[in-house]
Amino acid sequence: MAHEPRGLTTQLVHAGEPIPRIAGAVAMPVFQSSTFEFGGPGASSEVRYIRLSNTPNHAALAAKLAVVEASEAALVAASGMAAVSAAMLAVLKAGDHILVQDPLYGGTHAFVRHDLPDLGIEHDVVRGDLPETWKAKLRPTTRMIWVETIANPLLQVPELDAVVTFAREHGLVAAIDNTFASPVNYRPCAAGFDLAIESATKYLNGHTDIVAGVIAGRADLVERAALKLKHLGGSLDPHACFLLQRGLKTLALRIARHNANALTLAEFLERRDGVGRVHYPGLPSSPEHARAKRYLQGFGGMVSFELEGGAEAADAMFARLVLPAVAPSLGGVETLVTRPSTTSHAGLSPTERAGAGITDGLVRVSVGIEDAEDLVEDFDRAIRI
Ligand SMILES: *Cc1c(COP(=O)(O)O)cnc(C)c1O
Repeated sequence: MAHEPRGLTTQLVHAGEPIPRIAGAVAMPVFQSSTFEFGGPGASSEVRYIRLSNTPNHAALAAKLAVVEASEAALVAASGMAAVSAAMLAVLKAGDHILVQDPLYGGTHAFVRHDLPDLGIEHDVVRGDLPETWKAKLRPTTRMIWVETIANPLLQVPELDAVVTFAREHGLVAAIDNTFASPVNYRPCAAGFDLAIESATKYLNGHTDIVAGVIAGRADLVERAALKLKHLGGSLDPHACFLLQRGLKTLALRIARHNANALTLAEFLERRDGVGRVHYPGLPSSPEHARAKRYLQGFGGMVSFELEGGAEAADAMFARLVLPAVAPSLGGVETLVTRPSTTSHAGLSPTERAGAGITDGLVRVSVGIEDAEDLVEDFDRAIRI
């Protein structure tokens, strides 16, 4: 674009859209073609093929995402985990070491714990809120530090600026999984992170109908991640690219609503009899509040809480809720509820879960964009004391 718009909402709608429009189409058409003709004499003889993530649909998305993420480059992948694994493998090789935040998204945790060792890559775990403890875990072979903007399911926020400073001081790649915040609530690359990844399955697409991932960041690192993706095969299908591009256009509007609804629901739950601890970084009572206020533009759409009756009361509430579906995943327009001890954290032993502060009765809510009064009324009716 000749003049890049500066407002994020405008960027989401307009950035990276083809100029001139293709056959006049106002919405980017789907190029559902696995391969493309060579350009002919004098034209580019670049191989264009879906697995190489370089069809017109990939190119338009990458251009939009680079603007939205305020990054040098961006790339889409077949899933959030394709983005996580390609980003890690773009930086790490046999003999290297990575520092990862505890807790980590379950899939990332499993990849770091079970797959990286097979490749000769070691890791250590750090607490995001205690930067003074990180140096003790450094090794001469440490190459990367990996955190999450808002962690699952207790919604902790690490000392984000300290991650960037620490990585610079020690020559590490600073990487962040920004899925729970989305670039509307936090722009990691503008804050100095070298790599940001997101599961676009969640807020970026927002309509619970595709699985996709994003890698954004320094051009050299994104290029290396693209090469890994090409070899591992995790490219996004053009039709899913089309849906993601459509979803992105309303991201800022949706996130504003998720932020507002989650705060309303968290405030209601905090007041409601029968409800124990409420975890939401937007609540002044939250130990994460000061950090979240310092770093984030909004506190996000995820809320978790405990019911006084434990797991039994939670399941009884699930049975009475009308609007929310009981389902894993998050970030869509509709409200979803789960008990992490039976879904995302089912793989941990009861002792590990207790250590992580995840009780059997903990309920996680992905707050949708419905009318807040309807959600509050539904939860109020479903909670019995
Ligand atoms: C869902 C999720 C992922 C993995 O994304 P998929 O699209 O399911 O592969 C990674 N990180 C976080 C924080 C997630 O919530």
